[in-house]
Amino acid sequence: MLVSAKDMLVKAKAGKYAVGQFNINNLEWTKAILLTAQELNSPVILGVSEGAGKYMTGFKTVVGMVSAMIEELGITVPVALHLDHGTYEGAKKCIAAGFSSIMFDGSHYPIEENVEKTKELVNICHEKGMSIEAEVGSIGGEEDGVIGAGECADPNECKMIADLGVDMLAAGIGNIHGKYPANWKGLSFETLAAVQQKTGDMPLVLHGGTGIPDDMIKKAISLGVAKINVNTECQLAFADATRKYIEAGKDLEGKGFDPRKLLAPGFEAIKATVKEKMELFGSVDKA
Ligand SMILES: [Zn+2]
Repeated sequence: MLVSAKDMLVKAKAGKYAVGQFNINNLEWTKAILLTAQELNSPVILGVSEGAGKYMTGFKTVVGMVSAMIEELGITVPVALHLDHGTYEGAKKCIAAGFSSIMFDGSHYPIEENVEKTKELVNICHEKGMSIEAEVGSIGGEEDGVIGAGECADPNECKMIADLGVDMLAAGIGNIHGKYPANWKGLSFETLAAVQQKTGDMPLVLHGGTGIPDDMIKKAISLGVAKINVNTECQLAFADATRKYIEAGKDLEGKGFDPRKLLAPGFEAIKATVKEKMELFGSVDKA
């Protein structure tokens, strides 16, 4: 059964660890992440961007696949199915389709409009026992065609949005989606500390977890980050393992072209990446 992300994140914040959000793209991704979470006895959040939802033919398909997989694989750790960077319309579709959590990314709206739409979605989500994430200050890099500049959020705006009753808050602290450029300045712990001070117990979310050095991740967790989004890193690991399989000519040997064989190295690579992250975030045995 899918659960809201609220309880797992409240526990994470209090326990000074973070729960990973791993984005899914298809059956292999979902299975790899769920099995790893179960093996490590870790709570987990499956992220779905609007683009990935469309790719999987729609949010209903995603809910059906994930729910059935939890049952068929005997997954007992807490699993939240979460819309990543949702638009207002996308958020409503996910609520109707049976997601257990959403992110409403109203960061591109003027703050007043962001507040108004967030409030409405908070009410709907809480009525349905779902959790909701909001974002303040756009997060750098590209996410489904939306390009942000990597700014730092205004701690006062964070407080204002947190007070609307959201369950988790993504604040830009110099983080970027995708690969980090060589001249990246690193996370702004000054901003993070200021946001944490203003928002108290609110679990904070760090987007763009791919390529942030481990020591920065640990420091961010110590300053109130309770959810870390990982997407690109699984994609890179999958692509790398698949390329090696093909380059080694394994698809040409025997039944090596069978998709269950062809996709196996990439599947194992996602599992290894997720395991590494859960260990780094400290969520192992916290289910
Ligand atoms: Zn993000």
